[in-house]
Amino acid sequence: MSSIRDKYNTGRTVFSCEVFPPKKDQPIEPAMEKIKDFRDIAPDFLSVTYGAGGGNAGHAVEIASFIKRDVGVEVLSHITSVGFSRSKLDEGLKVFRENGIENVLALRGDRPKAMTDEEYNSRDFFHASDMAEFIKDRYPGFTIAGACYPDKHFEARDYFEDIENLRKKVDNGCSFLISQLFFNNEKFYLMQELMRKKGIEAPVSAGIMPITNARMLGTTVTLSGTSVPKSLSDVIAHYGDNDDDMKKAGIEYAVNQIRDLLSHGVDGIHLYVMNKPEVAETIFGAVR
Ligand code: FAD
Repeated sequence: MSSIRDKYNTGRTVFSCEVFPPKKDQPIEPAMEKIKDFRDIAPDFLSVTYGAGGGNAGHAVEIASFIKRDVGVEVLSHITSVGFSRSKLDEGLKVFRENGIENVLALRGDRPKAMTDEEYNSRDFFHASDMAEFIKDRYPGFTIAGACYPDKHFEARDYFEDIENLRKKVDNGCSFLISQLFFNNEKFYLMQELMRKKGIEAPVSAGIMPITNARMLGTTVTLSGTSVPKSLSDVIAHYGDNDDDMKKAGIEYAVNQIRDLLSHGVDGIHLYVMNKPEVAETIFGAVR
């Protein structure tokens, strides 16, 4: 079984991309058609998202198995704890293991809209760190990753509290980290500095999302709690009305961010390209 953690020991930058499975009631084939094109790009791994309420859990496992078996790329399966009891989570992890998936990104997830206060306040795992500890104890063969936040997680009072909590995640078994998307590299460097001061040595992949159309700012970016610097809002103001120009400018912004990160010796680059292998190909082609 191949541990993604080992890829960070080779001395070269780890390149990865994030894809998402279709919802349960949607056909899986169109997503597979797109995702198979990642084969030629040969990322170090692909990560597969997971609905916080478990709504697309079935397809998540299928997509992850497809990536490993048919695309021939190592896979990191996201798993969220907020909507799951201990026993349900255990069932889910067993299914991963039966399918040969032993690299997981342990996430709390955000509270599903339908969840009552009582359900939320009595959940089995309060934080990703609690779930990481559970996975480490019950599934010792698994490699566990965790999330970190260059713009600070929106619930944390300040950066120091967030980094203290990140330390618990790493102490409880997360052996590498993937950052939330960010547009200002200085925030990533500051987070790394604070991590070093707290003695957190786990490698970190920097999460980069190319803004390929102006509408993305209203959805994904707003939901992530990431701040948008003037340099990027200027790009959007200038090119946002023309989809082709915006795509080129958004990719260029991401490429510049990555070049700067590489020059600072970043451990990995994780592209939030969401089932768009052609965007990943352009970006990796420019920076690798
Ligand atoms: P936690 O680590 O639990 O952190 C949440 C908050 O609690 C933070 O403010 C933190 O400082 C605090 N905290 C953490 N541990 C403790 C502790 N022990 N004691 C007290 N406070 C603590 N969401 C999905 O639904 N599906 C996905 O597939 C998905 N993929 C993601 C991938 C990446 C790389 C990232 C960065 C995020 C992803 N998310 C996903 C979003 C994520 O679920 C949300 O950001 C969520 O709000 C927090 O998840 P977490 O695992 O970081 O939570």
